[in-house]
This record gives sequence, structure tokens and C-alpha cells, in this order.
Amino acid sequence: MTKILKFGGSSLASAELLRQVAALVRAALPDAPIVVLSASGKTTDALHAAARAAERGDVAVARERASEVRTHHAELARGLFGDSMPPELAAELDLECTALERRLDGVALLRELSPRSLDAIVSAGELLSTRLFAAWLAREELDCEWFDARRVLRTDARFGSAEPDVARIRELCERELGPRVRPGRAIVTQGYIGSTAAGVTTTLGRGGSDWSAALLGAAVGASEVQIWTDVEGVYSADPRVVPAAHPIAELSFAEAAELAAFGAKVLHPATIQPAIERRIPVTVRHTARPNGRFTTIRAEAASGRPLAGLASRSPVTLLTVTSTRMLAQAGFLARLFEVFGRHGASVDLVATAEVSVSSTLEPDAPLDAIRAELEPFARVDVVPDRAIVAVVGERLKLTPGTAARVLAAAGEVHIELISMGANEINLSLVVGREDEHELVRRLHAALLETDRPTGSPAR
Ligand code: ASP
Ligand code: MG
Repeated sequence: MTKILKFGGSSLASAELLRQVAALVRAALPDAPIVVLSASGKTTDALHAAARAAERGDVAVARERASEVRTHHAELARGLFGDSMPPELAAELDLECTALERRLDGVALLRELSPRSLDAIVSAGELLSTRLFAAWLAREELDCEWFDARRVLRTDARFGSAEPDVARIRELCERELGPRVRPGRAIVTQGYIGSTAAGVTTTLGRGGSDWSAALLGAAVGASEVQIWTDVEGVYSADPRVVPAAHPIAELSFAEAAELAAFGAKVLHPATIQPAIERRIPVTVRHTARPNGRFTTIRAEAASGRPLAGLASRSPVTLLTVTSTRMLAQAGFLARLFEVFGRHGASVDLVATAEVSVSSTLEPDAPLDAIRAELEPFARVDVVPDRAIVAVVGERLKLTPGTAARVLAAAGEVHIELISMGANEINLSLVVGREDEHELVRRLHAALLETDRPTGSPAR
């Protein structure tokens, strides 16, 4: 069985971090690791900026950005190898940077940047980071192989946000990757990039390396997908708001999805879905604190705790539609949502009363247009600058009294709307934006600081 170890750009930003990552890979050697890397630091941003400058015909800026990328990798190499950089590595980095410069020149000449060309340009980031890292592992006398992810990560031709072909990826992995994987040896490959059936380079979209890791993990039947980053997992609340927030030891996929939807950062659940579907646990870990806490996300929750965590999002707009005549009539809600839908307003929470319906809308929803359509038959009240605070937990539905504890903890914070998610793992409260952080702190203190999650060592 193999493990996937994925490292994000922030974990690869300096020679010191690369050494740390190499130590983690060494420790994982018995697990036949497949190491999936992002581009180092902000390289992908620099490559985008270079491509956009070239498209404007601004050759000077394009070259400057490209030379920053070249210099950054030369510095990383110097930090690792000192004066004894392997000549093959120097040649590989030069080849990749030269190809990049030529592509940018081409774009500048034509002043035309197709999504396909952009993908070819930005793929340089992952190719450079993996070349450099594989060379460092070799220098450290680790048995390793650099592997071009494009040999197996088959996608369609929607450049910039390509759709992976899961069945084909699995076949290709069985043929190309599986035979290379064995205990004692590390495979080093790229996140984010793939290729079409015709062999043209594609990308999965910004931040796509997590998705690559999950896709590869699912395709090879890994025992774990490890996402190494710069936080100790998914937190019970935003630690900037709640200093006592702690990484959640165990999360179900549904809980992770709810927390992300309501504002938790870290990782986009959709990207880890391929692994979850195959029941492969996904862990989120801190590269600089490998022995610290971390979060394990599984298809089903194993924590046994009623609440997993809190997330909050603002601003949202609370819109209340009141109609004594219409509301009881069949089709009123359909009519209301048809108006929202036609104006592209996405609704998060809904609560209904006898003569009114309240919903939260994104702050950029076209409120005037919506109001104009609804006002002929209903009163419309719009309250901007609200916040949604979501209490998320798989066992919320099974634990009597949770709602009472939530409301008691809110104390005198004025709650304007309460909504129990249809999946019953999310209890959401709408409050004024000025009360958002206060409510999160109160709820965390009352509900999440009393008993520590099982499996999460106290500091
Ligand atoms: N390097 C890519 C990006 O910055 C992919 C990733 O980091 O996941 O978006
Ligand atoms: Mg990322």
C-alpha cells in the first residue's frame, strides 16, 4: 500500500523547508510514498503575471517575472546544494526556464494568450519544484524517481480548469505508476498539471494540487492522502477570532464540506472527494510541526462528538418577504425562488413563518431588481451586513439539547434567524455583523472548550 504526501507551495518556499519535506519523505519511505508537489511559494502567481504581461505585449515585465522564477529556483538550489549543484539539475532547470521564456516571447509577439498557452506556461512551476526536490532526495541518497504526472493525469481539453478522466487515470496509473511504487522508494510528481489524450498540457485550476493528490490516491488505492500545509489541520473555529480554537482530530466529509461552505479555509472539500469516495482517509498536517496535531477527514465521522466546529461568513444580506395574501397560496415559494434564480442570487439559508419568508443572499445579489419584481405582491425588507455563524457536527441530529445549549450560549447576542440544515449537521444563526465574532467566541467557549476532542492531545 502506498501513501500520498502532498506539499503545498508554502511548504516548499525555502531551502530549509525543502530539507524538512525531505525528512518527512524519508520517514514515509516504508509506506511507498508518492510525493505530489505544488509550485514553490508564489511561483504560480509569478507565472500568471508573466503570461498576462506578455499578452499585453509588455516584454520587459514578462521577462522580469520569468527571471524572478529562474532566480528563485537557483536560490533554492544554492540553499540546498551550495556550490555542488548536480550538473544534470542545472541543465534541467535551465531547460525548463528557457522553454518558459520562449513561450512568453511567443505570447508577446502575437499578443494573444489562449488558455492552452497559459497552461503550458504555468505548468513550469510544478515541473521546476519537482525537478529540484527529486535531485535533493537523490543527493540525500534516497531511492527516488521523478515522474511526469502528465503520463497518468488524463483530463479533457478545458484548459485552465480541466476535468479529470477518472477511469482513464486509474488505468494509466495501474500501468505506468503502480509498477514504480514500492516500499523504500519515493515517487516525486507534480500536482495541478495533467494532459489531454493528445498529450497537451492542462491544469486543474488554481489550488488544484490537492485534487491531483486525491485523484492519484484514489487511482492507486492509497491507504492515506496526506495534505501537508502551514496549519495543523481544520480548526474548531478561526484561530484569529478564537485563540483557544484547536485542530479538529476527526471530521466527516460532510462536516468538512459544511465548515468550508460557511467560511472555514484550508481545503476545498470537492478536491478530496475522489479519495473519500474510495474510503481513503485524508489528513491535513503542518509541515513545520510534523509531530503536532492534525485533522483526519473520512467518509463518515468517527469522533463521537456532537459538535465538530464553528465557521462564520459575512457580509450576507437578510431579505424578508412578507405577504398576507400570497404566502399561504400554493406556488408562492416557487415564484420567490424563481425570481432569485433568474437574477443569479444564491440563497444560503431560508426560514419561513406564516406570512413571511426570510433568506440570506450574497452581498452582491442584485437587490434592487429583485425588490422591484417582488414588491407588487409582497413587502420586502432588506437588512445588509449580517453574518452567518454555523455550528457543524455530524451528531448534532442525535444529541438532544444541542440547540438549547447553542441558544443559551448566545446569551444576549440578538439572533435574527435560525436554520437547521436539511442534513441536520449544520445549525446556522444569522446575526448582525458586529456580533459575529462575539457569537463565535461564546459558542466556542460553551460548546467546544469544555471537553477536548478525542485523539487530539492537549498542548
Ligand atoms: N501551484 C498551483 C497554484 O498555485 C496549484 C496548487 O498550488 O495547488 O494554484
Ligand atoms: Mg494549495
